[in-house]
Amino acid sequence: MKHDDCIFCKIANGEIPSSTIYEDEDFRVFLDLNPAARGHALIVPKEHYADLFELDEELCKKAMVLAKRLGTKMKEVLGSDGFNLMQNNGEAAGQTVFHFHLHLIPRYEDDKAGITWKPGSVSPEEREELVNLLTKE
Ligand code: AMP
Ligand code: ZN
Repeated sequence: MKHDDCIFCKIANGEIPSSTIYEDEDFRVFLDLNPAARGHALIVPKEHYADLFELDEELCKKAMVLAKRLGTKMKEVLGSDGFNLMQNNGEAAGQTVFHFHLHLIPRYEDDKAGITWKPGSVSPEEREELVNLLTKE
């Protein structure tokens, strides 16, 4: 299904032009308009899924395989020194476009892209509680 008011539906299906670097029956991959680093691209399914929770499992697998292939190509062609995969779900996680997308971000020594977080801390009790919660059937 496509959503009429969704910009990534329109881009993925070719109604709005984009700097496309890859396309197949399921996905379009295009350059991010405001890149974190040189070559930053987005893997976007042609069907509308708001986020990872909605995304079809087969497409999940395909997106990861595509990320591996395109990340490898970026390394070879752009000479990147590292690579981040990033995928935001929900406003709290920084999602701004509510059509699933996987960020491919080639990284370069000293690129200052700043994709990081402040390391926190967790007590042994809290860790145990988390393990209990997350392993409960
Ligand atoms: P997120 O914050 O994970 O939802 O990421 C949305 C990304 O989409 C941002 O990195 C934006 O720069 C990018 N973006 C938004 N609109 C466009 C567009 N029309 N073409 C290319 N990238 C876009
Ligand atoms: Zn959409």
